[in-house]
Amino acid sequence: MRDEKHIELLIEALLADPENAGNPLRYALEELYAEYRGLLHQIDRIARISDRFQSVSQEEKQSLTGRYHKQLRQLEKIARISDRYQSMMHDMNEALKEASTRDALTGIGNRRMLMDRLKVETARAERLNRPLTVALADVDRFKSVNDAYGHEAGDKVLVRIADAIRCGVRDYDLCGRWGGEEFMVIMPEITASEGAHVVERMRSAIAEIEMQAHDTPLRLSASFGVAERRPGESISDTINRADTALFEAKRNGRNRCEIAA
Ligand code: GH3
Ligand code: MG
Ligand code: MG
Repeated sequence: MRDEKHIELLIEALLADPENAGNPLRYALEELYAEYRGLLHQIDRIARISDRFQSVSQEEKQSLTGRYHKQLRQLEKIARISDRYQSMMHDMNEALKEASTRDALTGIGNRRMLMDRLKVETARAERLNRPLTVALADVDRFKSVNDAYGHEAGDKVLVRIADAIRCGVRDYDLCGRWGGEEFMVIMPEITASEGAHVVERMRSAIAEIEMQAHDTPLRLSASFGVAERRPGESISDTINRADTALFEAKRNGRNRCEIAA
């Protein structure tokens, strides 16, 4: 660089010197120098254009990167919101499923849950030729509790009776509220007489419930009908036999269990 400037100054001095006016090489030097200046100018322009182009492309790159990151952040936000909605939907579905299969008052399974399970257990018992026993329970003289102490007291009684039944079931059993003051216990893998033993524990637990209504001790009891499924028998036929046995238990004095013929 230092040399270029030095040569330029030297050439300019030579061209300006009047002593060289007649020198035949002066014209050639002048032409060459003009050509050299022109080239320098062009190189300078190209360098400036290139700089401008580089800075424009740099700016474009930066703005593209900025837009990309912004969109990425938006997408991440949308994904988070969608995740939250999905987990909310999942919770709501679980709550709905729970609500549609649980009895709101007692917290045990409702009739739908009982029917679903009966279908599964009946099919299984038939396929594997295994025993399946169903018990129906009905609270004794429950109307008189409602009549004497009100519906709210009656509801509390139902909750306590449901608890007593729930505490009596084995691991594989399912109990639920069949409707009103009636409950059902589904007992896979056991015969009617074994089922009657399970039910007997529930019956005595109900009879031992200590409760008061309007400062008066309540004497509670329930009657049970037990039926073991016969091979090839439909669900409703098994239930009907349990119901007939329950009716027998009522007829035979209540607070007892009868096994279906
Ligand atoms: P039995 O020993 O013959 O079964 O006599 P019972 O009085 O229990 O039978 P009945 O069928 O005459 O009466 C059943 C009563 O159960 C009538 C109804 O009002 C009451 N009941 C049904 N569902 C509910 C409920 O969810 N809450 C309350 N408090 N009472 C209910
Ligand atoms: Mg009833
Ligand atoms: Mg009753």
